[in-house]
Amino acid sequence: MILGSGESGIGSAILAQAKGFSVFVSDKGLIKEKYKIQLLENNIAFEEGMHTEELILNANEIIKSPGIPDKADLVVKARAKNIPVISEIEFAGRYTSAKTICITGSNGKTTTTLLTYHILKKAGYNVGLGGNVGKSFAYQVAKENFEYYVLELSSFQLDGMYDFRADIAVLLNITPDHLDRYDYKFENYVASKFRIAQNQTTDDAFIYCADDAVMQEYMKYHTFNAQLIPFSIKKTIEGNGAYLQEHEITLNYNNNPKPLTMTIEQLALAGKHNVYNSMAASLAARIVDIRKEIIRESLEDFENAEHRLEFVASINSIEFINDSKATNVNSTWYALESMQKPTVLILGGQDKGNNYEELIDLVKEKVKAIVCLGVDNKKIIKAFKGSVETIVEASSAGEAVAMSYKLASKGDAVLLSPACASFDMFQNYEDRGAQFKAAVRGL
Ligand code: ADP
Repeated sequence: MILGSGESGIGSAILAQAKGFSVFVSDKGLIKEKYKIQLLENNIAFEEGMHTEELILNANEIIKSPGIPDKADLVVKARAKNIPVISEIEFAGRYTSAKTICITGSNGKTTTTLLTYHILKKAGYNVGLGGNVGKSFAYQVAKENFEYYVLELSSFQLDGMYDFRADIAVLLNITPDHLDRYDYKFENYVASKFRIAQNQTTDDAFIYCADDAVMQEYMKYHTFNAQLIPFSIKKTIEGNGAYLQEHEITLNYNNNPKPLTMTIEQLALAGKHNVYNSMAASLAARIVDIRKEIIRESLEDFENAEHRLEFVASINSIEFINDSKATNVNSTWYALESMQKPTVLILGGQDKGNNYEELIDLVKEKVKAIVCLGVDNKKIIKAFKGSVETIVEASSAGEAVAMSYKLASKGDAVLLSPACASFDMFQNYEDRGAQFKAAVRGL
């Protein structure tokens, strides 16, 4: 039984059918046209606009979309009947012996996943890209014959993983996000992230950020079987790992007499957060034996995905930057941290239990005005009045851009980095970023 007909659901259905299961896909909403065609072409039974409970609770196993919360009525009922409810990654992992590099964290997952994939590709590896980016892992396991996979894993996917084992696990950072799905308990979310390392053995590697206080605390009280490989921009790492000193990154792996070194100016991706992402990706690449030279070249010529600190245009010497993908406070923190010019910040959207306190120092230092772009901006206004002179509200991306343009002066920057989800006003963060960019280009 497949619950949810998105990318992961359809991939799971195709893989399950290929493995000889009788498969049924159920979606409470409407199934997207492109996925419906795939179901029809493959003769896979489905329903949409409803869940037929008797059918679902009759399944041997349920593969649930990460978008459906564990609290959903049907999921609770299935678990009460002892029907295993798993994620697509857990399911697909059963049918491949490819080496997996699995990447999670509150922020930087997509960037690090794409970067790692880019390095492996450049090295000529037979590698697939999956999880939250690109085609689903399950679909590729059904149709391809990759020897390696680089997988981006969200905590929702990790929650449905039990026996899956990552050959290389990467945990980038943990800061509060999605607390609405974790009973508003940060510790539940932290535990979910650490599932990335569950089932690992001494043959596996766990790459993690040694600067992350939340992770340090958790790691004090839990044991890990995998080889621990830290990275840091604050301290020197003895042995295997990566660190930053002045402007130079040093990376050691397996007593190779010559470490990989590189200056941050050589990195294609700017900002401190990307030093972390670059270190994590490079460590994963070294562990799968990629030459230093290839890693260095890949870090230099990588092009990041849209909506992540993306330069849009400079108009009348005002620089517009699209960071629509910043959907939590921590990612906005890093965006602001990387700003070199006085900034008009476009902030707001659907709140996920945000604490804006952490942004106040950076806002005081760098932000000359805040433009709120959300349906309900009360919390933001309350948090920042007193820290910034001007706070205004906009009711569309176009209006936000027009207001920002007026508030900014020559030499300033306008940064869309909302710290919130987009669903109150936009279809998703891509839609928000696209509308922002269109409005900038229309100025
Ligand atoms: P994710 O897939 O985890 O959401 P992305 O790579 O898409 O992460 O980046 C999301 C946002 O977080 C971007 O706006 C980016 O500026 C910021 N970001 C990227 N990497 C990090 C990091 N290591 N720490 C904090 N923020 C980051």
